[in-house]
Parts: sequence; structure tokens; C-alpha cells
Amino acid sequence: MSDVILEFEDVAASYNGAIAALHGVSLTVRSGEFAALLGANGAGKTTLLKAASNLLPAERGRITRGHIRFRGQDVTSASPDAHIRKGLVPVLEGRRLFKSLTIEENLVTGAVGRGFGRARIAAGLEQVYALFPRLATRRRSVAGLTSGGEQQMAAIGRGLMAAPEVFVLDEPSMGLAPLVVAEIFEALSRLNRETGLTLLVAEQNSSVALKHAHHATVIENGRSVLCGPAAELAGREDIKASYLGGA
Ligand code: ATP
Repeated sequence: MSDVILEFEDVAASYNGAIAALHGVSLTVRSGEFAALLGANGAGKTTLLKAASNLLPAERGRITRGHIRFRGQDVTSASPDAHIRKGLVPVLEGRRLFKSLTIEENLVTGAVGRGFGRARIAAGLEQVYALFPRLATRRRSVAGLTSGGEQQMAAIGRGLMAAPEVFVLDEPSMGLAPLVVAEIFEALSRLNRETGLTLLVAEQNSSVALKHAHHATVIENGRSVLCGPAAELAGREDIKASYLGGA
């Protein structure tokens, strides 16, 4: 777990040429690590994850300073598609499934984007259904009619179908009941342990994130203010009170 796979160096970003959302975030993710990005509402987590996949221009935003490196290569201005081809796959807030397609059709779209053929798609589906058995029973259901938890699992599954090397997730707990959140984080943790997949997960729910992550970075008002082993940060009540909105 020693090689750095993804690195943010002093990244600043703004929206509409004016509103500064990030003022300098540095963060290092090591290969095979489960990394958490913590911070209160509006701290800049989503902006940082979008910056990592160069998705800010679509929101009238841009990186104004700093560098993002993937496997040592500067990817700060690589296109979103190029990021996915390299293996940096984001699952962003809002889930964005195709609501009128079935769960399985949604999953398959994740692989089609990578140009994978039948055998790879079948293997991907098998992996996703093993991770989330609930999705196997809902494979023919129209996505828009499934529960919020099933939709989040499907969004994660669709990302997995693109065979990520670094899997970037934004608030997988968003809007879900505690039991479903636990189920999703346990699945992510198992995936990380069993396959060595590197995870970078942004979360407002610091308790669940710190329970499963190896390492965490806390951002506040667009700046990285703390980082350390998750077990160490989990024991510090002052951090929750100061930086995480008491979450
Ligand atoms: P949340 O958990 O609420 O999503 P966050 O930590 O992910 O919070 P961001 O969504 O990255 O925070 O927001 C950081 C700052 O950037 C906030 O001040 C927010 O209002 C601003 N911001 C985010 N998206 C946009 C946008 N599309 N246009 C303008 N400002 C934005």
C-alpha cells in the first residue's frame, strides 16, 4: 500500500470565474487504500472530486491552481473520458441513472463506455451482483422504480463495470437510511479488501467513513486542514465539532 496512485497538489478552483470553492487542497491516495475525504456541507468535497475528473467546466467551473497526478502523470487538463479510460472512474452525487432503463441496462452502460465486449460485461455483472445481491433480484426492474438504496448500489455497480483503478465516490450515504448506508460501506470495504481496488470516498457522514477507511483528509472552506489514519481521527471528538458540522 505504498505507491501513490492519485495526488492533488495545492488545488484551487472557482465557479463562474469568481466564486472560489477550493483554495488549496493537497491530498495523496496510495494504491490499494480506502481513502476518505471529509468535510461539512459546502466544504468543497464535490468540487474536488469533479476537479479530479475534469468535470468542472461543465458547471462553469475551473481549476485555477495546482496539479492532479494519476500514476505520476499530470492529468489536470485531461478530458473526462480520458480519465475513465485511464481508470479514474467517478460516481457522483445524484446517482444519475437512466431512470427508464432497467437496473441491468444501467449497469451495462458503464462497460459500454469503455468499449468492453460480451465476456467482460458478463464478468462485470457477476462481480456487481456478488457485491450487491439485492441488485440481482432487481436486475429487470426499471431503475426509476427501485429504492434509493438500490439506485445508489446500481450507480456504484455501473462505475465498477468500467473497471476502475481508482474509484471515486461522492457521498454514497446521501439520503439513505442508516442500515442501507452500512450495507453500502461494508460492500465497498469488502471490495477494497478482496480486490485491492483503490477508493476515494467523499462523505459528510464521518462516522461511517472513518469506520471503514484507512486514511482520511478533512477539508474546510476549500482547504485541507487535517489528514491522518482514520482510526486516529475517529477517536477525536474535537474534529467532528470543529470541522464536520458535528456529523
Ligand atoms: P455538499 O456536501 O453540500 O455537496 P461539498 O463539500 O461537496 O458540499 P461543494 O459542493 O464542492 O461542497 O461546494 C463548495 C462551494 O462551491 C460551495 O460554496 C458551493 O456553494 C460552491 N459551488 C458548488 N457548485 C457550484 C456551482 N455549480 N456553481 C457555483 N458555485 C458552486
